[in-house]
Amino acid sequence: MSSDIDMPYIEFIDRVVTNIRTSLELNGILINLCDDKSFKIGGLVTSFILNIKERDKVLCMNAGYYRCPHCYIYGTPFKKCLKFPPSTLTDVYARMNTSFRVDVTIAEDEYGRPMRGLCGKSPLLKLDYFDPTRMVPVEVMHTFDLGIVPYYMRAWMGKLASLQDGPKPEWVLSTDQQKTLQERIRNVQLPHGFTRKLDLNDFESWKADSMFFLEF
Ligand SMILES: [Zn+2]
Repeated sequence: MSSDIDMPYIEFIDRVVTNIRTSLELNGILINLCDDKSFKIGGLVTSFILNIKERDKVLCMNAGYYRCPHCYIYGTPFKKCLKFPPSTLTDVYARMNTSFRVDVTIAEDEYGRPMRGLCGKSPLLKLDYFDPTRMVPVEVMHTFDLGIVPYYMRAWMGKLASLQDGPKPEWVLSTDQQKTLQERIRNVQLPHGFTRKLDLNDFESWKADSMFFLEF
């Protein structure tokens, strides 16, 4: 296993998974209905609401270029941080449960070298029905704040590579519209302590929290 993995945490998750498999799956869960009828269900649908750090830890993902358990979007270094804007909205391939598990096997075989963001085997993969590509929430910061939002910003500002030649589509903001937008952004009352300047001309270097404000 890679040194990226938090072993005490993984051992704890492993104990949880063992309990799920031994007590819940073998003995089932007894559901009592109001008319004295009852039935047992055998499996347990597992869904985790996690922040990014917890999600990375529980799925044994590292903080590298591949940050999304749902797809293979790849981070691009920009001013000391990673950005995740897709160059088009169709060039990001979805991960599948099977390919996720294959990547984990390769990561383990490669002496702990991460494979597409995966460093080792999460105990949750012992649950056959657990699908890591569907049972964890989308991670908002990298996929939305640093992914889709800058992508649309680039499109509205006419900076997509595909817009460099030929006439601009009508949804590209004119110079006047950009000025108006900048004025509105300047008038947004930001929380106390938020000191970043939201300069529209420099939106490529905005951090995730700046993009987050723009979404409102
Ligand atoms: Zn994704």
